[in-house]
This record gives sequence, structure tokens and C-alpha cells, in this order.
Amino acid sequence: MSESKVRVRFAPSPTGPLHMGGVRTALYNYLFAKKNNGTFLIRIEDTDQTRFVPGAQEYIMEALTWCGILPTEGPGIGGEYGPYVQSERKPMYRPYAEELVENDKAYYAFDTAEELDAVREAAKQMGMPNWQYNTVTRMSMKNSLTLPADEVKRKIENGDPYVIRMKMPRNQDVRFEDMIRGWVSVNTNNLDDKVLFKSDGMPTYHLANIVDDHLMKITHVIRGEEWLPSAPMHILLYEAFGWDVPNFAHLPLLLRPDGNGKLSKRDGDRLGFPVFPLDWYTAEGEKYTGYREEGYFPEAFVNMLAFLGWNPGTNQELFSMKELEEAFTIERVGKAGAKFDADKTKWYQQQYLRHTSDEELAKELKNITNSHLSLEKLETVCHLVKDRATFVKDIAVEGSYLLYTPEEYDFNIISKKWKEDAPQLMTEWKAVLENETDFTAAHLEAKFKEFITEKSLGIGQVLPLYRYLITGAAAGPNMFEISEFLGKEECLNRIDSGLKSAH
Ligand code: GLU
Repeated sequence: MSESKVRVRFAPSPTGPLHMGGVRTALYNYLFAKKNNGTFLIRIEDTDQTRFVPGAQEYIMEALTWCGILPTEGPGIGGEYGPYVQSERKPMYRPYAEELVENDKAYYAFDTAEELDAVREAAKQMGMPNWQYNTVTRMSMKNSLTLPADEVKRKIENGDPYVIRMKMPRNQDVRFEDMIRGWVSVNTNNLDDKVLFKSDGMPTYHLANIVDDHLMKITHVIRGEEWLPSAPMHILLYEAFGWDVPNFAHLPLLLRPDGNGKLSKRDGDRLGFPVFPLDWYTAEGEKYTGYREEGYFPEAFVNMLAFLGWNPGTNQELFSMKELEEAFTIERVGKAGAKFDADKTKWYQQQYLRHTSDEELAKELKNITNSHLSLEKLETVCHLVKDRATFVKDIAVEGSYLLYTPEEYDFNIISKKWKEDAPQLMTEWKAVLENETDFTAAHLEAKFKEFITEKSLGIGQVLPLYRYLITGAAAGPNMFEISEFLGKEECLNRIDSGLKSAH
């Protein structure tokens, strides 16, 4: 490994919203950079103009910002190796492609799309469905290796469309040590002559990726496993240019919860959990749900993602970004696919909700409910029901009777406990409350105990009745704290309305 300062990049293509697997790739790059005092940058790989989706780049940047995965260099941020959007670097690539042709590492190919289709079709008819442009077949195609030099020159001068293809060496073993997978070895006879430069004047992903990683001084390429098959070819390209080869780490796939196949963008809404960090609407108006809009805290989402493929080797499960920056190592990233676990994801959110101060939760609750209650009051609501909630929106549901006076009561939930003497009992308890000036929880609890002792009744026989009248619910947090929160007048009114519903 070279001694140069660590520089890593996240290089998404703006072909749609960023899948959570992509966010994890960005996160691991970011953590690796932080851990090694390196630099993390973003580069947008948009050389395939046919797959460009408007809004995707903005989505990617917004998602990473929401997660707190902040680059030091990138589009809209700047840096000394910019521009960081490949389409803005377009003029830089052609000379590199030409250099490879000059050095006999690449060649011009003039075959039209129709001609290529015809060759493929003919091969298929002969029982070879996977025809490739490679070391063998290239010699029967229309390119600068088969055509006379003057014809090649004339075609180029004429402006005939052409691509530049990599001239894959024959029967050579490419070996490299992946930081996660160990030694990988591929024979070049299994690789095809990939297009490096297209007829539209744009480089392909392969060329642009290598040129930019070199120019941006990337030391470690950390990316998804789906790029592993391209790595040998990338290594040959570095060598063809005579450049240092960066270190590679190919991250394990994210798998569906049942372990059956790769987690795809359609799985989320089908299986009932988000697959994207933020909401995304397709051009056709289809919606993909995001973690942010579902109500997840970015810290919980990031903590969950960190564990999809990595573990700290201890029992600690909750990690702030700072702690992840300290603890993360590539050595502890596994090779095996990481199964996504929707319940565990909710568990993380629940933990983070519990660890968030009532004061902060109250502000969120105010935002989503527009409640007229003071922030101080809302803090108490959060305090009382946050243990029963996963999201802030659950607090509004779980504590709805703290925010609003129940409009309807469902007698079914109490009918089993509601004995004949219940109305009389509750009327008497109301009389006790009416005489109280001290409406603090502790005092009311003492009074309640006195009341049931006098009647020789158990808590379980009386408290649910009172809870039902005040909250309309069968379970919930401490009834005396609820009573204190609502105050005497509201409690007395609710007892009256509740009693009317009980029959
Ligand atoms: N643009 C590629 C992608 O969308 C990047 C692959 C790489 O990191 O080399 O995944």
C-alpha cells in the first residue's frame, strides 16, 4: 500500500434515487476516510446520457446531507480536483483514449449497431447466445486492427462514427488482493473488449472512472460487489496507462430479509419498509417511500446501515457517527451478503427516540401536529408516551388523548370490566376529585389508594374504569400523571362524557 494520504470517493450515477445500498457505500467510504484522516469526495458519474434522470443528482446530495455523510470535495462544494461531475469534464477524456490507441492498448471500431446485432443473432443461431467482442472475434470485425491504416484514417477524417475499444490481452491472469475478499484472479480470455469511448464523444463509465480516480488521486476504491467483475479490467487499464493501481474493497450485497436475492428498489414498498433514504417520485408519478418521510431519525438510519455488513466485534449496537468514525475498519466488513432486517431497523429508531430529549421531541411533535399546546406541555406528552412510540408521529397517536379531548368512546374496550356498580363507583371517585385542590400526581395517587382501600377493591378493578373515562383507552402511562397533566376541570368534564358513553 502506498504511503500517500488516504483519498476515497463515492461515485454514484444519477440514474434514479439513491438506494440504501448506495448510502451504505457512501457511509463506509466516509467512515474509512475519517478513520484514516483522509479525504472523502463525491463524484457524479453521468457519462451515460441515456440513463440520466433529472433530479437524481440533487436527490443524492440531499440524501447524503440528511445522513450527515458530508464530503470535503464534490459538486457544489468544490475542491482542487474538480469539476466533480463527469459531464463537465468531457473534454478531458478523449486524449486518454487516444493515448491507449497509440500505445496499442486500444483500437478504433467502426461496426454499426446493426452490424453488431447481426453478428450476435448469427452466433445465437449457431448455439452461442453470449457472443462477445473479444480477443478472438475482433479479428473478424470492422476495426483498426483489421482494416488497412489508410482506410481507418479516411473513415476518421470522414467523420464516420466509431468507438474506442480496449484491446484485451490474450490469456493473461489478472490477480489482485481485495481488502474484503482476499485474492481474486481472472483470466483475460474471459473478458471482452469493452468500449472505452463512445461515438457520442463521451467516455464510458470504465474509462472515465479510471481516469478520474487517477486524476483525483484516489487511494482506495470502496464500492459495491456488483463492480467486482469489472475490477480486473480496471486494473489492466491502470497498467495500460502506467499508473499506480488503487486498493480495492468490494462491499457485500444487501439481501432481502429472507436472504433470497438482492434487495431491489421494488422490495421496499412491497415488503412494507423503505429502501430509499428520502421519498422519490418517478416521472410517471409512482412513489417510493423514504426513511426520512417515514419518520426515521437520520442517526438511527445511519447506525442501522453501518451494521449491514460491518460489526464492531463487541456487543455495542448503538453508535453515533463520531463513534462509528472511531470504530470502523474495513477488516471487520464481511464477505457474505448482509440481510436487511426491518424489525431491527425499527428497533434502532426506537432506541434513538428514547434517547432524544423531551425538549427536542416536543418541537418535532409541534411541527407535525400543529398543536396549540405550549412546548412545555408537549414535553410532558413526549415524556409520558415516548416509551410506547417508535416515531414522533406515534407519540401523537399514542398520546392523542393528551393532545385532544376524546370525541368518541369505544365501550367495547372496557365492557368486560365495567360492572353494574361502575357508574356509581366512578361518580363517587369524581366527588373525591371535585374536592381536591392539589392535583399533583403523587397526591392523587395517595387519594386513589385511600378510595379503593375504603371500598375494599383492588387497583385492577377500579383504575381501568377511570382510565377509560379520561383517555378512552384500555392502557397507557401513569393515570395520575395524566390527570395532573390534564388538570382538574378537564378530568371532571371527561368523567361526565365518559360516563355517558358507558352503557
Ligand atoms: N458509477 C458507478 C455506480 O454507479 C460507480 C462504481 C464505482 O464506484 O467504481 O455505482
